[in-house]
Amino acid sequence: GRKLLMIPGPIEFEPEVLRAMGMATTSHIAPNFIEVFGNSLELMREVWQSPTGQPFIVAGTGTLAMDMAAANLIEQGDHVLVISSGYFGKRFKDILDRYGANTTILEAPIGEIVSVEAIENELKTGKYKALTITHVDTSTGILMHPKPIAQLAKKYGVLTILDGVCSVAGEEIKQDEWGIDMVLTGSQKAIGVPPGLALLMASQKAIDVFKNRQTPVASYYSDWGNWLPIMKAYEERKPSYFGTPAVNLIVALETSLKIICKEGMDNRVKRHQNLAKAFRAALASLNLEILPKSNQVAANTLTAAYYPKGIDGAALRAKIAEKNVIVAGGLLAEIKTSYFRIGHMGSVSPNDLVAVLSALECALLELGQPIESGISLQSFQNELMQTD
Ligand code: PMP
Repeated sequence: GRKLLMIPGPIEFEPEVLRAMGMATTSHIAPNFIEVFGNSLELMREVWQSPTGQPFIVAGTGTLAMDMAAANLIEQGDHVLVISSGYFGKRFKDILDRYGANTTILEAPIGEIVSVEAIENELKTGKYKALTITHVDTSTGILMHPKPIAQLAKKYGVLTILDGVCSVAGEEIKQDEWGIDMVLTGSQKAIGVPPGLALLMASQKAIDVFKNRQTPVASYYSDWGNWLPIMKAYEERKPSYFGTPAVNLIVALETSLKIICKEGMDNRVKRHQNLAKAFRAALASLNLEILPKSNQVAANTLTAAYYPKGIDGAALRAKIAEKNVIVAGGLLAEIKTSYFRIGHMGSVSPNDLVAVLSALECALLELGQPIESGISLQSFQNELMQTD
C-alpha cells in the first residue's frame, strides 16, 4: 500500500503542488513563468513576514542556503558565534570555517538550549560580526526562540542568521519585527515542495553588508552578485538569466505558497502548535521520553523521542513501516541508535498523526511492550479537543 511519509522532510505534499510540478516545462523566460517566479518572490515575504526583505530562490538544498549566507555575509577572519542545539549547528560551523570565519560555537547539552546569558557573555567581547541560530534543530527536535537572541544581537550590532530549514512556514517567524538579517530554508519541509530549492530572505542590512564587502565572494554559484539582478528582474516581470531556474519546482512553489498564505501564517503556526502538543501528550501516554527537556524547547514541526529500554530501534521502525508509516531514525552521532524522529509539518492533519500513533502502538505491542491498546489515540484526541 501507499506509505505515509512522516519523516522531518521530505514530507507529504499537497496533490495540487505535485500536479503543478507535473505541468509541461516552459522556457525560464516564458511570460507565464516570469509571472510565477515574481509571484513566488512576493509570497515569500508574506510567509517570512518580511515586507522589506530581499528574497532569493535558487536551485539547491537547505545546505546551499546555509552556504550562500556564509559565503556572502562573511569574510576571511570575521568572528561568528554559532549557537548550536544539535547536528545542524555544527554543520553551520563547518560551512563558516570553510569560508575562513573565526567561529566560536556554544553547544547546548542534548535536549537543552543555549542560555541567553551565555550568548550575551560572548557578544560582550565585541568581536562578533554575526551569529547563527538553528531555529529547530532537526537532529534533536529542539526549538530555540530567536526573538530574544535577535534583540541581543541588535544591542551589540551583530548580524543575525537563522537556519529556518525545519521551521519556516511551521514555527512563528516575524523576520522584520524581530530584526533578523537572514532567514533561510529548503523547499522540502514546512514550505511543502519536493526537495531542490534553497530559499533565503535577506534584510536590507544584510544586503548592505554584502555590498560593502572588501573581498570577492569565494563561491561563484553562491555569489549574490550573480543572483540579485535575477531576483530583481523576475520581480519586475522582466526576463533574465544567470543559471537555469528549476522551472517545475518553482511552479510548485508558487502553488504551495498560495496554499500557505490562504491558511494564513498565524493559523498555520497555531495548527502546528496544537498538533505537536497533542502528539507529545500521546507519546507521554506510551511512556516514551522526548529529547527536549521541557515542552517550552520542543519543536512544533517534529518530535524526537527515545526508544523504550530494551527495544531495538531498527526493528521498531521496520514494524511501523509494515503498517505503512515511515518515521526517521536518529541523526545525532552520540545517540543515533537510541532515538527516532517523527515529522509533523506542512499540510499535516490530525488524521496523519492518528495513523502514526496507531502504527507505533501496534508495533510496540507486537514487540511486547506493556502498554494499553488505544491509550495514545485517546490522549491525542483528548488533548486536541481541549485546544481551540
Ligand atoms: N538545517 C536544518 C535545521 C535541517 O533540518 C536540514 C535538513 N534536514 C538542513 C539544514 C540541511 O538541508 P538539506 O538537507 O536540504 O541540505
